[in-house]
Amino acid sequence: MTEPQIELHGIQKHYGAFHALRDVSLTVPAGRFVALVGPSGCGKSTLLRVLAGLETIAAGRIRIAGRDVTHLPPRLRDLAMVFQSYALYPHLTVEQNLTYALRLRGVPRAECRRRAEEIAAITGLQSLLGRYPRELSGGQRQRVAMGRAIIREPRAFLFDEPLSNLDAALRVQMRSEIRKLHDRLGATSVYVTHDQIEAMTMADTVVVMRAGRIEQEGPPLALYDRPANRFVAGFIGSPAMNFLPGEIAPDGRHVRLALPGDPVLALGSRRLDAGRQVTVGLRPEHLVPAEDGSGQMTLSVALVEQTGSASMLVTATDPALTVAVARRLDLRPGDPIRLSVDPSCIHLFDSVTEQALS
Ligand code: ATP
Repeated sequence: MTEPQIELHGIQKHYGAFHALRDVSLTVPAGRFVALVGPSGCGKSTLLRVLAGLETIAAGRIRIAGRDVTHLPPRLRDLAMVFQSYALYPHLTVEQNLTYALRLRGVPRAECRRRAEEIAAITGLQSLLGRYPRELSGGQRQRVAMGRAIIREPRAFLFDEPLSNLDAALRVQMRSEIRKLHDRLGATSVYVTHDQIEAMTMADTVVVMRAGRIEQEGPPLALYDRPANRFVAGFIGSPAMNFLPGEIAPDGRHVRLALPGDPVLALGSRRLDAGRQVTVGLRPEHLVPAEDGSGQMTLSVALVEQTGSASMLVTATDPALTVAVARRLDLRPGDPIRLSVDPSCIHLFDSVTEQALS
């Protein structure tokens, strides 16, 4: 087990009467890339700012590399923050922006130059050192912001939605650049984003937050395959998981769905109390069009979207189900479609507590 680089324990944060963080604990091992995700206002930026020392807390402890920093100001925490607004100095060149913090610390000019060149090589800015921020693209500015964080050789990087000002194609490119940089530097990173795809593709560990609490943390695919509750199940995955009411059948081994024809799905090896009311979760790609007249339910198609390589359709049911198929389907609104579901792909949640049932 790698030593923990960042430890947050029992963090409570209030803004006046508003309780922004509720007993949040999180451990980030050295070298790990952790993404904090959750809907707007769930507290992920607040948690990052608390870690950076930019916000005071009502209770809790923060340790970085084994040292208690709970009461230390930001500059003594040895962390570097990268924001969505790059906050570059417009009147300074790329090189001067990169070395600003070093020059403040009195690092000699020649050493600053050497470090700037080293960082420029890592971030792909070699030919741009003499340019001003206004002469750079969005992606290049983001790289300067990264470079400026790297040059300080911090204990960990904190990213607050660093890509949200970039267009879609550049975001995808910068995602992998940031992750590669993290690996190359052997860094520890905490990355805030509201974009679950960004979190899933970049992070070793995804932390899902809601209303100031951590709902679940784990490797991206573990969260996808085994969400702890309905909220995480609905937040992780795009298109989102379908949810519908169900009732456990008298044999305890099947679930009856609230859909036309009252379809019944086998639950595999699981056994639950007969008559129990549940919420059934079905991922769009787990609703599989049945080829040969098999399948467990016949539903009517309301909408078909073709992307060329894949099809997405929505059923004319209440609730409507989204079905994602990785090929073309020759279907039109009003057509019937027969669907099957593998028992191992059925998610069940308690209809009151919304916790996953295994
Ligand atoms: P977003 O994705 O929209 O940035 P977030 O999850 O990062 O959301 P935070 O910025 O951490 O959310 O804010 C958490 C909650 O705390 C929000 O409800 C917000 O309105 C509130 N909040 C944040 N900063 C302050 C402040 N300075 N004063 C009062 N309330 C605040």
